[in-house]
Amino acid sequence: MKPAPFQYHRAMSEAEAVAIMEHLGEEGRILAGGQSLVPLMNFRLAQPEHLVDINAIAALDYVRRENGAVAVGATARQSAVEHADDIRMHVPLVAEALESVAHPPIRHRGTVVGSIAHADPAAELPSVALATRADIVLTSAAGKRTVAADDFFLGPFETVLEPGELVTEVRFPIAAPGSGQAFAEFARRHGDFAIAGAAASVTLDGTRVTDASIALCALGPRPMRAADAEQSLIGNELSDELIAQAADRAVTGLEPGADIHGGTEYRIRVARAQVKRALSTAVERARGGGQA
Ligand SMILES: Cc1cc2nc3c(=O)[nH]c(=O)nc-3n(C[C@H](O)[C@H](O)[C@H](O)COP(=O)(O)OP(=O)(O)OC[C@H]3O[C@@H](n4cnc5c(N)ncnc54)[C@H](O)[C@@H]3O)c2cc1C
Repeated sequence: MKPAPFQYHRAMSEAEAVAIMEHLGEEGRILAGGQSLVPLMNFRLAQPEHLVDINAIAALDYVRRENGAVAVGATARQSAVEHADDIRMHVPLVAEALESVAHPPIRHRGTVVGSIAHADPAAELPSVALATRADIVLTSAAGKRTVAADDFFLGPFETVLEPGELVTEVRFPIAAPGSGQAFAEFARRHGDFAIAGAAASVTLDGTRVTDASIALCALGPRPMRAADAEQSLIGNELSDELIAQAADRAVTGLEPGADIHGGTEYRIRVARAQVKRALSTAVERARGGGQA
């Protein structure tokens, strides 16, 4: 199918994108890599009146280390981020999760920021933003505001983005010394959206857990932190039992919908296994001297 008619605007700078978005208000829609938006338009599941193409804004194509974080600009492609030294050294969770996002041709075009702005509950990167406690920078004619990933996602494909606003940067905090990060997911085929996925980060002081974060994808209407499970780890001595209990807690109360890939109970079982895998790998990496 072909998309419904729309008007196309090409922004050459951040300021121009902001001005066009301000002018269009609710009718403006950002076009980044187009790997989610264009298929939706072709199926007429999305019918934006105006597309604001940001692909030519070279100044937003960056991955750089600053102020204790690795900042990723809005036009940085997923493949560039996946292979960026600053990401692999300082926020390896992002690179590991990206390996499960679709396939290389899609990652060559799709953007990290676009995936987070799109807020697909089954996508990997929103859960990574939660687990790393990333900050999301929103820009509009009124200026910039920074929103914690915890506050950004509201529901399926719904975020706190206001009309006229765009995401210009996501800042992933550099992993703490002595920490380990890991992403685990189960999908029918590599590159498919996950049936259940988990992102984890664990910081150790000897055998004691001093910090932990866990986030889940494909298990509810939005990516979710498993706050109870995190708390059950922090301050406690590591053991296989502690990790197993945290995995149990992470899935307690979840009610993922059933679909052709499996029922609710099955998805919960798969989710528990992914949390356990992600935590165990993160702990192993932290024990190995940490990834930071
Ligand atoms: C075959 C196929 C398989 C895929 N498999 C996976 C997968 O396994 N896991 C996964 O996570 N993704 C998958 N994707 C989606 C892919 O990762 C997309 O690239 C990504 O979700 C969106 O990034 P994009 O840059 O292409 O955004 P676009 O498609 O251009 O935009 C997506 C949405 O986000 C908005 N948006 C984009 N950038 C901004 C911004 N800077 N500010 C405000 N709003 C913005 C757009 O307006 C639009 O509503 C797949 C895609 C395809 C085609």
